[in-house]
Amino acid sequence: MSQTVERHEFQAETKELLELMIHSIYSNKDIFLRELISNSSDALDKLKFEKLTNPDLAAAGEDSHILLEVDKAASTLTIHDNGIGMSREEVVQHIGTIAKSGTKEFMTMMKNREQQALPPELIGQFGVGFYSTFMVADKVTMVTRRAGETQATRWESGGDGTYTLEEAKRDTQGTSITLHLKPSDSEDALHDYADEWTLRNIVKKYSDFVAYPIQMDVERKKPELDAEGKPVEGSEKTVIERITLNSMKAIWTRPESDVTEEEYQEFYKHISHDWNNPLKTIRMKIEGTFEAQALLFIPSKAPMDLFYQDGKRGIQLYVKRVFIMDDCKDLMPLYMRFVKGVVDSEDLSLNISREILQQNRQIQAIKKRLVKKVISTLTDMRRTEKEDYLKFWGEFGRVLKEGIYEDHENQEALLDISFFHSTRGEGELITLRDYMDRMKPGQDQIYYLTGDTLKTVENSPHLEVFRDKGYEVLLLTDPVDEIWVQSVMEFEGKSFQSVAKGTAEVGDAEEKKAEEEALKEKEQQYQSLLECLKAKLDEQVKEVRLSSRLTQSPSCLVGSPSDMTPQMEMMLKAMNQEVPKTKRILELNPNHPIMSRLQELYSAKADDPALGDYAYLLYGQALLAEGSPLPEPARFSRLISNLMVGTMQ
Ligand code: ADP
Ligand code: MG
Repeated sequence: MSQTVERHEFQAETKELLELMIHSIYSNKDIFLRELISNSSDALDKLKFEKLTNPDLAAAGEDSHILLEVDKAASTLTIHDNGIGMSREEVVQHIGTIAKSGTKEFMTMMKNREQQALPPELIGQFGVGFYSTFMVADKVTMVTRRAGETQATRWESGGDGTYTLEEAKRDTQGTSITLHLKPSDSEDALHDYADEWTLRNIVKKYSDFVAYPIQMDVERKKPELDAEGKPVEGSEKTVIERITLNSMKAIWTRPESDVTEEEYQEFYKHISHDWNNPLKTIRMKIEGTFEAQALLFIPSKAPMDLFYQDGKRGIQLYVKRVFIMDDCKDLMPLYMRFVKGVVDSEDLSLNISREILQQNRQIQAIKKRLVKKVISTLTDMRRTEKEDYLKFWGEFGRVLKEGIYEDHENQEALLDISFFHSTRGEGELITLRDYMDRMKPGQDQIYYLTGDTLKTVENSPHLEVFRDKGYEVLLLTDPVDEIWVQSVMEFEGKSFQSVAKGTAEVGDAEEKKAEEEALKEKEQQYQSLLECLKAKLDEQVKEVRLSSRLTQSPSCLVGSPSDMTPQMEMMLKAMNQEVPKTKRILELNPNHPIMSRLQELYSAKADDPALGDYAYLLYGQALLAEGSPLPEPARFSRLISNLMVGTMQ
């Protein structure tokens, strides 16, 4: 065996990359360990695979593991694995040159820049795996032996543009990479990477689900035990224990039938920090031009922060079992922010950054599939597990409804699984399909009323004629309802119509005609009174007219078809938006005794000041009935008191 040491020059591009690494382009240096562990895990996978076809390797690959070894005195950290290893040629090829086209592109980009400083998020997209060791080490030594070969190779570099190669010995196949750590008090070292807890935390964070045990020898002080098994005081001795740092529980990689309900629940609690069990577990495998697996959960309870502004999403992204990021916004739309879980891609780069994710076609395709899968799961649940589904709806329906206007592609499917209160639901929620099924013959619109609470909308005067004539009206009381109901053109050919907007035309053509004529007649009768009342309420309303929607109440307020509802107005104001005040229309019930009484007053004395007070009372009543605040509550209550003691004329 020759003992010659060969010195090689790195390829020019590698040199530049090393230079960058030494001057640390990443703000997060901890990731070097994630990179090395992922390489070791790949090497163990490769060995497992090669064993299938190469009988010579049968003996190799027992006890697959990754071992972290710390030498505090020498300030080194070594990562051992007993994976496939590398031959001398492979070392030159894989470690000495940059083969990946992405990295080449990156280097060209660097060269074309006048300054060396690139924003970290741009750097993030390029695979720089092995070289990231030079962020924390000033010298790296690697000893590696290819499975099936007897000769090992020693590679070493100080990151200075050259590396050395020599023959070496290694008992088993695999690779050991020793980092000669930069002093931990030096300016550009963040952590002491020879510290047990630092390493444990980094492994837990990034590599917990790596499928092989990541082990480390740790020192523990242990007392001796007496005959009864009790510790003997003062007998403490230092012992070395080999512990496994990762849980390896990537349960999404195991066959579905192997994982128990309890394991899913435990995993859910681990990633979601929720105490409750999930309502539904969803497994998913994407195959084809790219591969990914997903394990998703629908929680049983809404978290406190569901409506906070920051819009956190519950999906963690992994690449080949290695943790990449939390709260991955590009994998789930905002309206599915309640879904928790993990997505594990086989093809993405470990270094993919948030900025790059946004434009990544694969990520977009995965997102699309996840959304479809969640919707189809919910659709099935609605059909076969209605009780659970209604539980889900109670917790997350308000959020899911945001999708009706945000996600046009799935609008129809989302409407299909939405539930609503209605005037004929008798406390039970109904679907749009239920509504369609009992529409009256000739009814060509879906009637709805929006408002703040179920109590106020249920008692709203706007419903009177619809109730009397047996037309069902959806009662929409979530703020989000205001928005989606205006964005949906139709559901199965029927448009949505607010019963508080426009004129109320219900019934068949004949009924409508008769109604219209009767109203016209009354309008002639009351014309000058209506004009007088309008003059009194000029500041408050844009029109005073007779109503065909009231059968009991004297008055109500309605909007023109394109007007904003008062709820919408309040919502926008709450979001600090400028909203022009929309004046509404005061509608009066021509058949109410108040009307004939007012007419008498008006005929007797057209300038009777009491007319102004009555106009205000009718307006105030209409506001109260729909749950809107009174602009002058004191005036309203004074007028009521006057009425009660009979001092109004
Ligand atoms: P990547 O992992 O994206 O290919 P790296 O820079 O991390 O890029 O590694 C470069 C190559 O070096 C790997 O593709 C692999 O062939 C080889 N390599 C690195 N570490 C090991 C290891 N522990 N065992 C075997 N081969 C390794
Ligand atoms: Mg790698």
